[in-house]
Amino acid sequence: MKGNVNEECGVFGIYEPEEGQIAQIVYHGLVALQHRGEEAAGIAVNKGRVITCDKDLGLVSEVFDQERLSRLGTGNMAIGHVRYSTSGCSTKENAQPMLVKHIKGQLALTHNGNLVNSSQLRRELEEQGCIFHTTSDTEVISYIITRQRLVTPSIEAAVEKAMDILDGAYSLVLMSPAKLIAVRDPHGFKPLCMGRIPATGAILFASETAALAAVGAEFERDIRPGEIVVVEAGQVRSITSHCDTEKRSLCIFEHIYFARPDSKIDGVFANDFRIEAGKSLARNGAVDADIVIGVPDSGLSAALGFAEESGLRYEIGLIKNKYIGRSFIAPSQEERADMVHMKLSCVVPAVRGKRVVLIDDSIVRGTTSAQIVRLLKDAGAKEVHMRISSPPFMNPCYYGTDIDSREHLIACRMTIPEICKFIGADSLAFLQVDAARDILARLMQVSGDQVGVCTACFDGDYPTRVPEHYEKNRFETMEVST
Ligand code: SF4
Repeated sequence: MKGNVNEECGVFGIYEPEEGQIAQIVYHGLVALQHRGEEAAGIAVNKGRVITCDKDLGLVSEVFDQERLSRLGTGNMAIGHVRYSTSGCSTKENAQPMLVKHIKGQLALTHNGNLVNSSQLRRELEEQGCIFHTTSDTEVISYIITRQRLVTPSIEAAVEKAMDILDGAYSLVLMSPAKLIAVRDPHGFKPLCMGRIPATGAILFASETAALAAVGAEFERDIRPGEIVVVEAGQVRSITSHCDTEKRSLCIFEHIYFARPDSKIDGVFANDFRIEAGKSLARNGAVDADIVIGVPDSGLSAALGFAEESGLRYEIGLIKNKYIGRSFIAPSQEERADMVHMKLSCVVPAVRGKRVVLIDDSIVRGTTSAQIVRLLKDAGAKEVHMRISSPPFMNPCYYGTDIDSREHLIACRMTIPEICKFIGADSLAFLQVDAARDILARLMQVSGDQVGVCTACFDGDYPTRVPEHYEKNRFETMEVST
């Protein structure tokens, strides 16, 4: 269950040979990516080389109704974005696409990820007289690209140059008056894929394959880490000067939790990873029990895997209230401690008198897990053995994932037996980092040293330099003081 870990964003882009109601397609793609960001949504449409953009705070379905989509008009290229802010404030200005006018025309940009050198780049730009209108990394990227455009012959050449300067996580979909461009940073932290709609010849880019399927597109391939893919007049070109397989560092938490289970990332379905994670937990954290249940939704696949490997019966023991979303009115601090009761309810006959194995995707602060264990025990569960399909969080993420600061991460303060006691479980085990790597290597059919994943929030092995001073708080302060 979503504890305190959130993804930053989802991106989507489409080129259609014929002009049409393209915003509708982007809308449906964004709805399929809604889980990646629930704070803001936006769409930019390119008609006859003129780009029109509309964006606002809210879910995709809250921001766009039929009338608002129609106002975007027809076009033959469009990009869209859903946002959860980990850098910058949650304001309408920080919503995307970011539309800028520069000396060579317009540029609309969408971004998933965080730069590790954003603060330094912003300061350098500010010292040179640049004035920023937002607090997000994306404006830094758009400045860098448009400045490079002054000295390069094309927008893709400007992007290529910008990639020498940008460091960190960035999956981008951008649109100039004539081109749709997809970019994945050389580490490939965040997923980005390409598809086509056979009937129309449309070419699409999306954070996840599930968004391609949602609009009737067929998956064609993943964008390679470091690759720039340019669509111009229906022709696709690839620029690979920044591709370096040594750097590949896909965020393993995409497979553990972020991505939809039906999305395939770099050749592996997230659902397959989660089932294998559950099997690994069953082998390495075996326990005498009667049933296995998962915390909906993200613990369910791993629970199935655990049940299959252990031979224990899989049961539906918890039900999630689907109607508590982003717009749910947060109760008072005291009531918030009891939030789990509003989000989850227990299927009492399934757990009463049983020794239950409970599978969840992660433990951040431990308070949510403690409430779920309490819920099961109150419903009459004899024992609750918690198994977590990720390793313990020990470090912050600088790449666009909102993992709490070390002081709030329970695994930084307590040993596993102490966490077990804190959450009130009868036993507790986590997936090992090596097991997570091995699972992905096996599913990718590569050797362990070729798997190319980021596991930094678990083992501190950061694939890039770490920002000297993480400036997330700078903007939080700005938000309070304005
Ligand atoms: S630090 Fe963790 S959450 Fe961040 S990119 Fe790496 S694996 Fe993903």
